[in-house]
Amino acid sequence: MQIKDLHQHFLDFPSVSTDTRKINDNCIFFALKGDNFNGNTYAEEALEKGAAFVVVDEKEYAVSNRYILVDDVLKTLQDLANYHRNYCSAKVIGLTGSNGKTTTKELIHGVLSKKYRTIATQGNLNNHIGVPLTLLSIQEDTEIAIVEMGANHQKEIAFLSAIAQPDFGYITNFGKAHLEGFGGVEGVIKGKSELYDYLLANHKSVFINADDPIQLEKLGGYIQKYGFSTQNQAYYKIESLGADPFVQLKVEDMVINTQLIGVYNFTNCAIAICMGKYFNVDLPSIKKAIEAYTPENNRSQIIEKHGSTIILDAYNANPTSMQAALESFEETGKNPKIVLLGDMFELGEAAGEEHQKITDIVLEMDLEDAYFIGENFYSTQTSFQKFNSVDEIVSFLRSNPLPKNSTLLIKGSRGMALERLLDFI
Ligand code: ATP
Ligand code: MG
Repeated sequence: MQIKDLHQHFLDFPSVSTDTRKINDNCIFFALKGDNFNGNTYAEEALEKGAAFVVVDEKEYAVSNRYILVDDVLKTLQDLANYHRNYCSAKVIGLTGSNGKTTTKELIHGVLSKKYRTIATQGNLNNHIGVPLTLLSIQEDTEIAIVEMGANHQKEIAFLSAIAQPDFGYITNFGKAHLEGFGGVEGVIKGKSELYDYLLANHKSVFINADDPIQLEKLGGYIQKYGFSTQNQAYYKIESLGADPFVQLKVEDMVINTQLIGVYNFTNCAIAICMGKYFNVDLPSIKKAIEAYTPENNRSQIIEKHGSTIILDAYNANPTSMQAALESFEETGKNPKIVLLGDMFELGEAAGEEHQKITDIVLEMDLEDAYFIGENFYSTQTSFQKFNSVDEIVSFLRSNPLPKNSTLLIKGSRGMALERLLDFI
């Protein structure tokens, strides 16, 4: 079946599923394959649960006219998404970067929704499947779509850009994340910049954080750009008033009081304000949207417990975000201060060195105590306590509770799931 014809079915049944546990009535089910499953085997179940059609790529499963047989289900999903993206008139904003994509996406979504019919990536669905699903959630009357694009190796952002064909793009930052797959920091810059490469080649517009020297160097001569800076007069001026504990900003004499902690959230807010300005959302509405946003999923949350303030940032960690969180923590809250840090994953050969750097930074800080958790931190040289696993520190904390009335930072990679510590504090 041609994509054009499949798209006609999609217009009649404009909902897509890839998981039989989440089937909407009258959706189109795409029978994707994974390492450990073959979606084709679920096609019949999807129909029984209410799917209108199923898209399969193994002939023996296509047993009635409700089965659409294609060569490759994943490629068909991506092609359909690209077709639909061009069928609709929404402007697409592509977002990538090492840290802060989801937070930035949600802030931009909040701001632009004040004036436009806007859709955005659901949660963190930012890969070769999530991006197509996001594009397929664009409706005919949608005006702006904000698409988060994630990557952990080269050419991935180029690939996602070709599917999403963004009209605008922004890179949150170039950090030390997924060093293993990208091949070091230079590799990260190259990989994330594939978004710029796409925009440049297609005469589209870029947004820029003009305080970031890498962005400035890459985009300084670029014509279709719009951005913010705390300093540079050529850009929209947005001032940082600090983060104690919540990020505060000032723009055109208006103070914005966010519910976000961590100075690193300044740029995330600033670009959302900047985009609001670019798309003519009025400043009071921009302020309202930014002030209303609270993070989810253990992303920089503040929890009060036993008189202690806990900054729970257990959603993920890499050397850049870890360092940013530590710097911010130093300027936040009352003493005594304690950090509980878990391993940072996907660093490849750099793992030993990067974990050691973090323990060295911690040593220089004015802290009451520090606890390091995980095999990587366990291999570092430090005078603070180290634990091989979360279980180990949990049994330690049972008999050695942390002091009450302190300020705590908990941060580690997703796989460490450090939110498990909360019950023992
Ligand atoms: P993922 O790769 O999982 O999609 P993401 O890029 O979407 O992550 P967020 O989920 O928004 O990022 O934030 C994850 C964590 O990254 C936050 O909890 C915070 O610790 C850190 N972070 C957020 N913004 C920045 C930033 N601008 N610079 C450095 N670290 C940041
Ligand atoms: Mg994300």
